[in-house]
Amino acid sequence: MTMTDVPRIATDHDRLPPVLAFGAPRILAGAAQDRRVDLAAHRTLHGALVPRSRGWLSSSLAQVRMKGRGGAAFPVSIKLDAMPNARSASVLVNGSESEPASWKDRVIMRQCPHLILDGALTIAQALRTKRITIAVHDAASARSLEQACRERSDASSVTISITGNAFVGGEIRAVINGLNGGRALPGGRRVLPTVDGIDHKATFASNVETFAQIGLLALLGATEYARVGSTNEPGTTLVTMVGDVPFPGVIEVPIGIPIASLLQSPPGDRRAVLIGGYHGTWVDHIDHLVVERDALRIAGAPLNAGVIARISADHCALVEVARVTSLLASESAGQCGPCFFGLPAIARGVQSMVEGAGSEPMSRMVRHLDTVSGRGACAHPDGSVQFVRSAMLTLDAELRQHTEHGTCGRIDGHVLPVVAAA
Ligand code: SF4
Repeated sequence: MTMTDVPRIATDHDRLPPVLAFGAPRILAGAAQDRRVDLAAHRTLHGALVPRSRGWLSSSLAQVRMKGRGGAAFPVSIKLDAMPNARSASVLVNGSESEPASWKDRVIMRQCPHLILDGALTIAQALRTKRITIAVHDAASARSLEQACRERSDASSVTISITGNAFVGGEIRAVINGLNGGRALPGGRRVLPTVDGIDHKATFASNVETFAQIGLLALLGATEYARVGSTNEPGTTLVTMVGDVPFPGVIEVPIGIPIASLLQSPPGDRRAVLIGGYHGTWVDHIDHLVVERDALRIAGAPLNAGVIARISADHCALVEVARVTSLLASESAGQCGPCFFGLPAIARGVQSMVEGAGSEPMSRMVRHLDTVSGRGACAHPDGSVQFVRSAMLTLDAELRQHTEHGTCGRIDGHVLPVVAAA
């Protein structure tokens, strides 16, 4: 195991949010807010890691319909099938959790690191490579992974790298560019890591939770893995719940659970909910929504990296939208004109809505939303547009109050964090 550039500075961000599970925990089995699962506890809970062939892994991933847990929800079996068998190939675990509201990947890295290693080693063995890199933003996660590698004898080839913590710096191609010695920014071209990854060789890259799920699949087998969850998407997933929610923190849930159950919302509840975090979607009808990636995508509210947030009735949601939009604008990597110039214009437009500007600034902002949409080399502008556009539709009553009175009368609760974790 090798370790690079790990700062030894403890910060407030080292404190984890509450860690919970709906039903029996799997990924989070044995973990708690202040309890890390070491190798002995991990093996007691999950048993020994069994070597799995590439054929077994591919068909098992397809059987449980596993989707990536980062943002794109790409089928993991297809990604594996696209990889060559080559010693030069790499496995990249992306632990660069860059969205300030999201905590789930850091919780897994800090509390359950051995499941991640089991998943990464299973993939590497299937591809016949020993090249495994784990990219993280924060020192506490790096320390936990470093300790996990020391606890076991099969992780000597794992490299842990600290990468930059900009919002778009967590995008997989940005991480790869940084690891290849370039700037940690998304590339100007959309090239898949399975074609051009670490050292410009084929790379199986996915986020931390995906690897933990692969580890669990290797340990349980497909039939047992699929005993929970929905028919369309078996298993569990982790979500980060933020704001006016009954269980704030990181929660492992069976896939298919109604979002109204998570929020304990009565039928017909019209309070606005943000699904999918800062590249996500504001909705005010959740009765029909379940935590399932395909279902949420079809409903127009993708789960992305799993942040679900609600603003209390006492707090102004519009000012939260303005603050997050300003963050999104400041995080443009500056490589694509429409993104670089358009997102700040949109942020100014949202701020003018908060201040009660009339219809002309609103129309100008809508034009900017149309201009930016579909114009970037990465998902950042489209995700940002989705966040703002859905807010304008869902928060129309608050918007009217701001337009007519300059305020909605609610206070600024600073609910949605905009400071990237250390
Ligand atoms: S779309 Fe924006 S964030 Fe993405 S590469 Fe272009 S400038 Fe950078």
